[in-house]
Parts: sequence; structure tokens; C-alpha cells
Amino acid sequence: MAENCSHDCSSCSADCSSREKPDLKKKPHAMSDIKRVIAVVSGKGGVGKSMTCALLAASSQAKGYVTAVMDADITGPSIPRMFGVHERARGDELGIYPVVSDGGVQLMSMNLLLENEDDPVIWRGSLISGTVQQFWTDVIWSGVDYMFVDMPPGTGDVPLTLFQSIPLDGIIVVTTPQDLVGMIVSKAVNMATMMNIPILGIVENMSYLTCPDCGRKINVFGESVAEAVALEHNIPLVAKIPIDQSLTAAADGGRIEAEDTTNYLTDFFDQIDKLVNKK
Ligand code: ADP
Repeated sequence: MAENCSHDCSSCSADCSSREKPDLKKKPHAMSDIKRVIAVVSGKGGVGKSMTCALLAASSQAKGYVTAVMDADITGPSIPRMFGVHERARGDELGIYPVVSDGGVQLMSMNLLLENEDDPVIWRGSLISGTVQQFWTDVIWSGVDYMFVDMPPGTGDVPLTLFQSIPLDGIIVVTTPQDLVGMIVSKAVNMATMMNIPILGIVENMSYLTCPDCGRKINVFGESVAEAVALEHNIPLVAKIPIDQSLTAAADGGRIEAEDTTNYLTDFFDQIDKLVNKK
């Protein structure tokens, strides 16, 4: 603490340990009501982060929770397509309204704002973070029990800004067996720990393939090390999702809400629900 401390950090430049950290959290839209916010993150793209986010949202909605997905993966937005939503979001003088899927999930994504959903978004990081923050501050989310945020991949500028500005109740880390071996998971875990955000669990996607003829499980990417990594970081392993052609077809065909995953994801959302409420 500085000598003669007046306890007024705003008029003092000393970098002492008791200095109050600035709260960078943004307030949601005044008309929004959002109870829980869970971010789905990955160390890199293409591991099934959006797929996991969509499956979680679909099962949360199916459990009777009012559910929303904020697609923060601005340069690779795939959430609306997975839910079969292609119309543009509406807005008025009050704010922007999410588009609601057939199953009732409230969605906001860059793709719902573009003139043409195939248009690429070639923006710098600051513009991207600003837009995602607006999904939080300018969109009117109604009575949401669970919001899932499909984060941009990696641990760069944009995810960092979002970690700081959106009040998250926890994160889910999605990986594939290969990435579990490397440092990718550790990086995502370390970032969340540094930001003081609870890590609810690890999901190993593309964990195995079930042979359609004999039913044997094939470890396409080698033996799973998910349990060992989860143990090392003291984080629950909440799901092992197989490579499943019907998942790809459901995601591409906009039918993710109708996908029957009961044989391998029966209690996936229930586990998250418990972990969130245990906090
Ligand atoms: P990310 O969000 O990490 O970039 P996606 O969720 O978009 O990755 O997945 C990348 C591609 O892999 C998509 O075409 C998706 O449909 C497919 N995919 C993801 N997980 C699985 C899975 N378990 N089985 C089959 N296809 C999958």
C-alpha cells in the first residue's frame, strides 16, 4: 500500500497489491434476463466446439430450461446452420431480438445479421470483440435459464476480452484425443484459471468410432488419455463423444435439436447442471 494511502485508487498511480481491479464486465441489455452463462471453448478450431455447444443447448432446452446460444465465433459462425435457422434477426429502437429455433432455443450469431450468410467476416480482433459484446449488451434475451456461448477458438485477444467482459458461470473445454496429449488443453485451462472462471468440465470429442458391423469401439486417434488429463487438472471429464456420421448430417441439415444422442450423451447436460449449481 502507498504511503499516506487515501484509499481512493482513482486519484493514485501506485501499483500496490490492494489496488482495486477495474471491473470490465459489461451489463446485459436492461430488458434481458439471463440466469446462467456457460462458455464452450477449445484450444483450436475444428475440434467440435460448436457441435458440443449445440448439443448442450439442445439437451438443456429438451430438459425444459429456457435456453439460448450466443455464437461468439464471429469468423466461423456455424450455430444457426446447425439449428436450421437462416432468417435475419430483427431489431427496433429497443434492441435486437434473437432468432428462435423450431425447438425454442434463442440464437444470436453474426450469420443472422449478414445480408448473405455466406459472406465472410474479415475483421480485426477489436471489431470482433466489440460485436460479441453487443450480442450481450444490445440483444434482448428473454427469461433465459441457460445461455451457452460458442467462443472463438484459441486463447487469443478475442476470447480474452470476452472472458473479461461477459460474466461467465463456467466454461467447458472441448478437445480431441490428439490435443489432449499436447499443451492445448493446459493453455485453455490456465487462461480460465487466471481469469478466475470455474472450469466445469472437459469434453473429449471424436473420442472413438463404433464399427457399424461388429459394434467394436475403434480409437481412431489412439488410446484416449482424457481420464488422465482430467485427473491432472482436477477437472471432471463430462463426456466422450464418438465420431458419428449422423451428428455431421444433423449439424449440416439443421436438425441438431432432433438428434438422438441418448446412447452416449444421456446425462451430459444433467452433469453440467449439477456442476453449475454446486458452485
Ligand atoms: P469447431 O467449432 O471446434 O470449429 P465444429 O463443431 O464446427 O468445430 O465441427 C467441425 C466439423 O466436424 C463439423 O462439420 C461438424 O459437423 C463435425 N463434427 C464435430 N464433431 C463431430 C462428431 N463427434 N462426429 C461427427 N462429426 C463431427
